[in-house]
Amino acid sequence: MARAAKTSKILLDDPVSSLSGVGPKKSEALNKAGCQSVFDILRFYPTRYQDRRKTTPVSMVENGRMFLLRVKLESIKSYFARRGLTVINAVFSDNSGKITAKWFNRTYLTKQLLPNFEYWVFGNVTKSGSQLIVSNPEVEKIEETNGQRADVLTPIYPSNARLSEAHISPLALRKLIAGILDNIDWENSLPGSLRGSAFQKILLAIEEIHRPKSDESLQKAKYTLAFFDQVLFQIGVLKRRELLTGFLTLPDSTKPPSFKSPYPLPFKLTNGQLDALSEIVSDLKNNVEEGESGKIQPPMNRLVQGDVGSGKTLVAFLSMLYFSNELTPGYQCAFMAPTEILARQHLANFQKFFPQFADKAIIVTGSQKASEKRLVNDLIATGSALFVFGTHALFQEKITFKELGFCIIDEQQRFGVNHRRLLFNKGSNPNQLLLSATPIPRTLSLTIFGDMDTSIINEMPPGRSPVETTIEKSFKATIPIIKKELEAGHQVYIVCPLIELSEERDWVSVEEAADRVEDLLPDVSYATLTGAQTWEEKEMIMQSFKDRNLQILIATTVVEVGVDNPNATLMIIENADCFGLSQLHQLRGRVGRGSAKSSCILISHNDESSERLKVLASTNDGFELSMEDLKLRGPGDLVGTRQSGLGHPCFSHRIPQKLIENARKRAFEILTIEPIEVRNWFNTQMIHSFGESYKTFMEGG
Ligand code: ADP
Ligand code: MG
Repeated sequence: MARAAKTSKILLDDPVSSLSGVGPKKSEALNKAGCQSVFDILRFYPTRYQDRRKTTPVSMVENGRMFLLRVKLESIKSYFARRGLTVINAVFSDNSGKITAKWFNRTYLTKQLLPNFEYWVFGNVTKSGSQLIVSNPEVEKIEETNGQRADVLTPIYPSNARLSEAHISPLALRKLIAGILDNIDWENSLPGSLRGSAFQKILLAIEEIHRPKSDESLQKAKYTLAFFDQVLFQIGVLKRRELLTGFLTLPDSTKPPSFKSPYPLPFKLTNGQLDALSEIVSDLKNNVEEGESGKIQPPMNRLVQGDVGSGKTLVAFLSMLYFSNELTPGYQCAFMAPTEILARQHLANFQKFFPQFADKAIIVTGSQKASEKRLVNDLIATGSALFVFGTHALFQEKITFKELGFCIIDEQQRFGVNHRRLLFNKGSNPNQLLLSATPIPRTLSLTIFGDMDTSIINEMPPGRSPVETTIEKSFKATIPIIKKELEAGHQVYIVCPLIELSEERDWVSVEEAADRVEDLLPDVSYATLTGAQTWEEKEMIMQSFKDRNLQILIATTVVEVGVDNPNATLMIIENADCFGLSQLHQLRGRVGRGSAKSSCILISHNDESSERLKVLASTNDGFELSMEDLKLRGPGDLVGTRQSGLGHPCFSHRIPQKLIENARKRAFEILTIEPIEVRNWFNTQMIHSFGESYKTFMEGG
């Protein structure tokens, strides 16, 4: 008897096709929507709940609120209002009064709803005069619910594009889930050794989130599930880290011994630079020498975050020198930058700071002539070039390193993960150092960049005066300021959100700004710079701006990663409201690079959003700004548009940092000390939740 009952019960791992009411077609659609198992369906959580536990007589309803009615259908008809709009009107009644229900375009209801039958009708009621109208209500035949009302809060599921493609509406999902919950066997749904353990709590929380008993228990369940999700995500993160480095380890946060670089510099390093350098050196060293643990550590996989101008490049240079001269003499370093000008600038600075190694440094770019390429390749292949700078050409060209041991990627957000991987593949499991000027809040560095160790330089070299930031309402208002800067021999950037006039948005384009400059500043030399130009053109323009042959550079955000031009002292940003704060901060980092006082003018034609811009005017702290961005605009802005899956609740700024840190520890325990059965179960759930994409999750392409 007990046995028979059991076999008819649903288990979490059952395929969706085993559910009653799910035929081959529906199950295929569900599979397409990412649901293989019953558990996958239960992982769609409601976003809110409605109280449908009480019915209200029609005579007692009030204007503007939701009510559950138990009413009989009197009549139903539809009429054609205008093209594309059919209105369906149905009159319902109970013995206290009548109410009209209205739907739009749902003509099938005229066939589905039958006069003289009783229905549950739930929706928002409006009173207009003596008429009561309930708009777009949910209806359910009373017969079909065995006359039973909900005895718990009713979960409301969000509409989901993938599910609606499978013709599963939020209402259908609710019914599907209710059916599962009525018949599920929680006890036997977990593998044997997980049963009755703390893991059972996860399943209780799943049930609770769909059928909350009380507000308090609902809140608890939400926390449990946020933790569960985060553990799964961190398992993915740790596995990705393992994939990248070949080792399963937890990012280390202990402070390494401080490192003093032997090479003379024209200035003192900041404490932030010293700490970052010590962390890098310690990673490099631990990959070669046995530490206290008696084990060689995996190659470095580190992200250095620091505001524009905080001196990341120099830290990278010093670590390259340590690596190729002291730690593992003869091993090569590759330093990749997103533009040729930037790569050339890095090479020039390297040779200026360290003339004793100038002849060991070399550059690889796409623009080199065949003969030059041959020479360069030769120097790299024989190992005479130790410090190889370059652009994408570093991994695109047919270059063979003698022994590539250390890859540095500048402005990492400009490169996709495949680019990174292609470069790393030129060595055998080389050390990886990424530099980023977009400071990211800790919650994100634990998730999106969670597979990396991070160093933070949150300090500027002394003597920099912050870029003074103001807000103006029109371009015209900035003209006297532009004139003043130009008269002093300085240069100006004007940044616009569009390249050319757009029909969709009335933002200022580069073209339009150029017209205005011609009108209002007729004798000024300027050029435009946009992503629509070839890279050769772009490089040429940036170079001539740097050489002071141009007074004004009118550009899109391509200048975000630009040349170091200390003579540029004014940046004007049109339609500043349409950019993220972090991006504006990064843009204004193009000025204020010399000793002259610099300023940034944000043009906002919009009163409300200038509140947001005021934050920018009030602080120079990139971390504060990125936190603000995360709250206001979500994580997409901070990690670049190529990234996908950022809508996942795992990245919400509302998730406490502590929860993420604990989840990471738990994830590591699960992967290392929990029994294999537990590990496998979590692994399966992780792959179900994040798909195989966890390998490249968040990294874009
Ligand atoms: P970013 O972090 O934006 O890449 P850079 O490495 O380009 O910053 O440094 C900006 C400028 O500051 C460079 O001209 C660099 O030489 C200079 N710089 C770096 N470190 C220091 C320091 N400790 N003191 C003074 N100037 C420094
Ligand atoms: Mg830099």
